[in-house]
Amino acid sequence: MVTVIGGGIAGSALAGGLARRGLPVTLYERQSNGSGGGAFLFIDDRGHRALTELGVAQEAIDAASYPVTGGLAYANGLGRRGTTTGRGHRFWLRRNLIGMLGDFVADSGVKAEYGTGIADVDGFGDDLLVGADGIDSTVRARIEPERVTEYAGDVVLYGMTTVPVELPTAPATLHFFAEMPAPGPPVSTLGHIWRPGDPAALWFVRLPRPALTGGDDLGLRPIDEWAEDILAATPTNRALLETFLGATDAVHVSNARNVPLEDAAAPNDSVLLIGDADHAITPAAGVGARDALEDAHAVFQAVTTGSSPAAAMAERRQRILADRAQAQAAMRRSAG
Ligand SMILES: Cc1cc2nc3c(=O)[nH]c(=O)nc-3n(C[C@H](O)[C@H](O)[C@H](O)COP(=O)(O)OP(=O)(O)OC[C@H]3O[C@@H](n4cnc5c(N)ncnc54)[C@H](O)[C@@H]3O)c2cc1C
Repeated sequence: MVTVIGGGIAGSALAGGLARRGLPVTLYERQSNGSGGGAFLFIDDRGHRALTELGVAQEAIDAASYPVTGGLAYANGLGRRGTTTGRGHRFWLRRNLIGMLGDFVADSGVKAEYGTGIADVDGFGDDLLVGADGIDSTVRARIEPERVTEYAGDVVLYGMTTVPVELPTAPATLHFFAEMPAPGPPVSTLGHIWRPGDPAALWFVRLPRPALTGGDDLGLRPIDEWAEDILAATPTNRALLETFLGATDAVHVSNARNVPLEDAAAPNDSVLLIGDADHAITPAAGVGARDALEDAHAVFQAVTTGSSPAAAMAERRQRILADRAQAQAAMRRSAG
């Protein structure tokens, strides 16, 4: 018997995958209709491979997301430009990803307890307990109370227009612009994606600044509260920002945070953490959902083959740390 706490990305994928193999699985999700939340995500081919190997149909992925066919386009205020094809990235509205995973769980035989938040890790008997309860994990707080989130240095604002917009930039492309009045770290990063005929364009701004006070996640805030700060931090893209601000009612505002992984306690075979609960990383890295899906897949494989889920997660952590080191080295090379 497996108990999964948290029916977000990792927890739903794992619970649905295991139950489809005939294992008894109970899933507890605090929110009543599955995890919702605003914003949008980009997931690469590794994340999609994990999903299909867990049993999610390719047609379901295709129906709920679209490929970033224009690739990833980067520019900065010092005139540097570049485009990469990406690594099979697809664009997801978070609600579509969670909706697809909710259907996957619903069809699988999981005993799903939506609207049930878990406050403690005791009382689950001999079950394997998997904490997939996100960045502010209750499970992590119980088993590793000293491993707390850290501010990553940016406030992130995610917006979605309420009407279709036509933009001068290439469609189906993830655009980044680093506002850089002088060599050094950017004073803001603007990202956006759109397609002709889509009901909304999606954009985000990352502002390096002191952390928000009043909570790490302010949720959706009226655009007027942030418009001035956004415009002040993005002078090179004034016209684009004016289009976004004029067509957006509210932005999702939160502190970018990490869950430190380097000194984590070794996983064990009775209580495990996966996804953000174990190793959340700032949205700027763009890999948290991919990593969460790969964790779910690794634990799924261990459980279904009778090997140790703890060993699988220990291996996952090594891979994640190696990926991060590689990404940082690539960033240093492109900055130098
Ligand atoms: C603004 C933003 C943009 C991002 N963009 C990207 C991107 O482009 N690409 C990418 O790969 N990643 C991105 N990420 C990261 C990605 O969203 C996370 O890594 C991913 O959601 C982690 O999945 P998870 O299942 O571990 O946690 P979550 O998806 O957060 O799910 C955790 C679930 O646990 C539930 N829960 C919490 N506590 C309890 C409890 N006590 N009992 C029961 N249920 C509980 C919550 O309600 C939630 O449903 C972004 C993150 C943010 C904030």
